[in-house]
Amino acid sequence: MNAEEYVKQVFEQVVKRNPNEPEFHQAVEEVLESLIPVLDRHNEYIKEGIIERLVEPERIIMFRVPWLDDNGNIRVNRGFRVEFNSAIGPYKGGLRFHPTVNSSIVKFLGFEQIFKNSLTGLPIGGGKGGSDFDPKGKSDKEIMKFCQSFMTELYRHVGQFTDVPAGDIGVSGREIGYLFGQYKRIKNEFAAAVLTGKGLAYGGSLVRKEATGFGLVYFVERMLEDKNMSLKGKTVVVSGSGNVAIYAMEKAKELGAKIVACSDSNGYIYDSEGIDLKVVKQIKEVERKRISEYVKYRSWAKYYEGCKGIWTNKCDVALPCATQNEIDEEAAKILVENEVILVGEGANMPCSSKAVEIFIDNNILFAPAKAANAGGVATSALEMAQNSMRLSWSFEEVDRRLKEIMINIYENASEAAKKYDCEDNLVVGANIAGFIKVANAMMEQGVV
Ligand code: NDP
Repeated sequence: MNAEEYVKQVFEQVVKRNPNEPEFHQAVEEVLESLIPVLDRHNEYIKEGIIERLVEPERIIMFRVPWLDDNGNIRVNRGFRVEFNSAIGPYKGGLRFHPTVNSSIVKFLGFEQIFKNSLTGLPIGGGKGGSDFDPKGKSDKEIMKFCQSFMTELYRHVGQFTDVPAGDIGVSGREIGYLFGQYKRIKNEFAAAVLTGKGLAYGGSLVRKEATGFGLVYFVERMLEDKNMSLKGKTVVVSGSGNVAIYAMEKAKELGAKIVACSDSNGYIYDSEGIDLKVVKQIKEVERKRISEYVKYRSWAKYYEGCKGIWTNKCDVALPCATQNEIDEEAAKILVENEVILVGEGANMPCSSKAVEIFIDNNILFAPAKAANAGGVATSALEMAQNSMRLSWSFEEVDRRLKEIMINIYENASEAAKKYDCEDNLVVGANIAGFIKVANAMMEQGVV
């Protein structure tokens, strides 16, 4: 059977076996299609059933998370952990707390994580988890009770050599702290490397908070450099105003870009003078309020209800850093009409398949999430390394390593794209470079 037919057959099986999971199907389809040239040249991957094994998670854990709200009502949420692939290291990937979390979302994220983690060059497998719990509007005490209940089940599945969760949407330093506290209490051991994204006082790493956003911008700057350009003087639009978005804006600004718009799940702000990050941080990180508050501090700025409109603003560089499928076909066409030069995915799968196709067909520089946002998980792996050594590196040391990792990812992805005759297509390049290492490890470990 030729590679194209084989991939089609595997994908049909995935759809049949995982009904009603569109995000998972979307992620698998993109990866499998880009692997056709590799499978064409390396029949051994087909013979060893690598692809069939790769699309099936090693383990999926789903559990009840009961907790009491501030009024004494019993609330029940659903928890997930998908342990997708451990061929090159312990499962590693974030936890997402958001009402949209379901098995399709955690499986798509876990699947992508396999290749992303491989691309970092560090020894980490792929996993992801979370809950349909909505942290919005919950008191601090409710967040703590939920996190404690979540960990009371999850603790038996995680460990520094097994599975190491981190943050994602709705899970940042505060939640990781509560999760870690409960793990430590149940196990009666200070196993720092069981979670990453920890506070600095108890095993966290400098730069972890900034890593995904900084890493994205290091990647984008390297891409521009290859075309004799840079971020200096460029107009940038960033969606989201969470962890990834804030630090992408910070680094892009430092490199001389002007950020004119950012958003949250209610709407977006446009500031012709350039976004004031101190204000955004105060609203989102300290007060945990809506981005609409921004116009109270900067009277000339505008707030628009609804987040999709953000892509109608003319920019040189677009950095979607909020959530999956936020740039659809229509938004992609507008960005192209407005002569965007580069689109860099800070969020996971923020561009729909159709949108990606439009960018590639129009020769827009496109940085796919797997490669461009790998800085977060890479720095998590550096946090694990520091925990194992019981040492802490300086900010400059971690930042230097992060930058080096992002540049290596870029070089490896572009080299793989060239080797398989897909010059400049980093979607294909990243998938192939991530795949080969995992596939070879799986071959060497036999049928497990
Ligand atoms: P945060 O929770 O810190 O921020 C998410 C931001 O996106 C918020 O501004 C949020 O708005 C907005 N948002 C969330 N859901 C939606 C939606 N459905 N529509 C529009 N806006 C939305 O998460 P992160 O910054 O950590 O994560 C953002 C993306 O980056 C995710 O795709 C995540 O998987 C990915 N990522 C994160 C990494 C990390 O290290 N944190 C690593 C690699 C990838 P609101 O404030 O209203 O909730």
